[in-house]
Formats: sequence, C-alpha cells, structure tokens
Amino acid sequence: MPKARRGAGRAPARGAAAGKSRSRAGPGGPPARLWAPWRMEFVLAPKEPGCIFCRFPAEEGEANDRRNLVVHRSARSFTVLNRYPYSSGHVMVIPRRHTGCLEDLTAEEFQDLHEELRLAARLLREVYRPDGMNLGMNLGRIAGAGIADHLHYHVVPRWAGDTNFMPVLAETRVLVEHLHAAWEKIQRAFRERSAT
Ligand SMILES: [Zn+2]
Repeated sequence: MPKARRGAGRAPARGAAAGKSRSRAGPGGPPARLWAPWRMEFVLAPKEPGCIFCRFPAEEGEANDRRNLVVHRSARSFTVLNRYPYSSGHVMVIPRRHTGCLEDLTAEEFQDLHEELRLAARLLREVYRPDGMNLGMNLGRIAGAGIADHLHYHVVPRWAGDTNFMPVLAETRVLVEHLHAAWEKIQRAFRERSAT
C-alpha cells in the first residue's frame, strides 16, 4: 500500500490523462513529452453516451474483454489498456464504482484499487521491462482528466529516449494490431499471475 501511494502521490502524470486539456505536459511532466498523434482520434471522436468505465467491466466474456481491451478484474477494480496509448503497455487501473472523487471510495475500494495498481505495475515491468513508469491520476477536467466522472489511474511505461515513441504506429491500422498484441500479452500475464 505505501508503495502504491508513494508512486501515485509523487508527480502525478499530468499529461498522461486521456484528456483534451493536455496541451503542455507529457506524462510525468513537461521535459518528456511523448509524441502520440493518434490521440487526435480520441480528442475528435464523438463521446459515447454513458460511462465506458462502468460499461467495460460489466460486459464480461473474452470477446467483450478483447473488444474493450479489459485485461483484468479484481473484486472492486479493473485494468484496461488505453486505446490511445502514450506508450507501449499504457493501461488504466479503475475502481468499479462510478465516482470522480477519490474521497468517496471506501477503505476496501481504496485498498483494492491500489493492490490492482501495484499488480499492474509489477506485470508491466515483467512484460515490457521499461526503464521507468509514470503512475498518476488526474482529478477533474481542469487537471487533465478526459473522463472526469470516473476515477482512473494511468500506468505509462517509459523508456530512455521514448519521446519519439514508435512513430510508425501513427497509422491507426497498425496501432490496432499493436493493441491486440498488447492485450494478449498483458491479459496472459494477469491470468498466469492469478493462477499461481
Ligand atoms: Zn462510471
């Protein structure tokens, strides 16, 4: 628990939010701005009615998880790949409860969320072997939250010199294939971990 809190509390990934208002800072702060042009698709896409962070974990089964990019569910949280990632392995760790207010979470929900966050960070480290990671939560639209009504942590693996992250992925079709491969890898890592 202290581990997860420490990671989350320090230098939240201001720019790591899936958000329109991200204009200056990259994940972890201004010096390391990631180039992710496909995110324009997210910014310009019409917003779905309802809350996708409520819908995703409720739609169960492998076909749904593959489509929604859900890689794991815990009792009170779940982990999903970001469809418009800032880097390879960019996931979001999200409480099941629909709230945009951290203080609304019960002690159990809070603990479960942070256990899930720690597990996600550990598995991403094993699968992707990044040089570092940004963990962060943006509270409120002004702070960069793209979906402000439902809390979500971003976990963004980082590599030295990654500010020009895979420009080849700018092509959406390639990115989609990349996302499916990432879903396979991360979902398997979670599955193997819970089987032990
Ligand atoms: Zn919700």
